[in-house]
Amino acid sequence: MKTLDLIVPCYNEEAVLPQFYETVKRTLQTLPGYRATLIFVDDGSADGTLGLLKQFALRDSAVRYLSFSRNFGKEAAMLAGLRASKGELVAILDADLQHRPALLGPMLAAIEEGYDVAAAKRTDRAGEGKLKSKLSDAFYRAANRISEVEIDPGAQDFRVMKRKVADAILSLSEHRRFTKGMFAFVGFKTKWFPHENAARAAGDTKWNYKKLLSYAADGIFAYTDLPLKLPLYGGLGLLALSVLFALVLLIIRLCGVLVPGSLGVLFAVLFLAGWILLTIGVFGEYLARVYGESKNRPHYIVSESNLPEERRF
Ligand code: UDP
Ligand code: MG
Repeated sequence: MKTLDLIVPCYNEEAVLPQFYETVKRTLQTLPGYRATLIFVDDGSADGTLGLLKQFALRDSAVRYLSFSRNFGKEAAMLAGLRASKGELVAILDADLQHRPALLGPMLAAIEEGYDVAAAKRTDRAGEGKLKSKLSDAFYRAANRISEVEIDPGAQDFRVMKRKVADAILSLSEHRRFTKGMFAFVGFKTKWFPHENAARAAGDTKWNYKKLLSYAADGIFAYTDLPLKLPLYGGLGLLALSVLFALVLLIIRLCGVLVPGSLGVLFAVLFLAGWILLTIGVFGEYLARVYGESKNRPHYIVSESNLPEERRF
């Protein structure tokens, strides 16, 4: 029997957790070749999530939970789950049943076949706002054009992986984490599973546009330093342009025509000011990240858990 850890990040999921637990348990009964442990990570929920997890743990020895002292975000929750897991195989799935547990069987079969990772890939965006889909598509197009790693736009966090893949992800120690980018970075033989976006079984989404925007920025700035080089290219371009411009003015002047300078000056001032501000902004983004990493703060703080002490951090 192989050991399998299921990592489940939960933030205010009391409405859906009982249904999730039942569904996953039923699915696991159809997979007799695996000894499964459920690792729930309560990401500082304000509702009854932790209480429910404790109830599950009380009647089911295969349930582990870890509760954060506040909301640290899904990335931190997934990291905590990965650190706590010791199984030969590791799976990550959402608590809201959007990641259908029924897919676990085929995913595990792919691993038995020799794949290192089995990952779900969205086939449609039903149940998601039009604007959110459009923005998300635009983000992945832009990110892939300029990043060193290719992220599949449909890739989801729903995955089953071998121990070595989990360890590879854990070896990336950055603080601003972007798991999809990290999976692309570590590589490994991956089988993709088309997976339609089921509606949330209960409860509400935990994302808002502000959170998503900052997540997208992490995805871009963490995987390329092209924005840092933009000012250099832009600066060179501007230099060439201004020399050309000066030449044109000189020629016109030599032909005996007087050109009003005010419009040209206004344009130049606005253009340069914009460019300089942009440059400073880009530096600021990277600086903030360097600063964030250099503070070396923990990704999360655990307030309680039924895991052994050494697996809580
Ligand atoms: N989640 C979390 N911390 C957060 C936000 C979300 O652990 O700060 C969990 C949430 O409980 C769920 C998963 O991450 O299990 C996906 O969140 P959600 O369903 O809200 O995102 P969506 O599916 O709408 O993208
Ligand atoms: Mg969801």
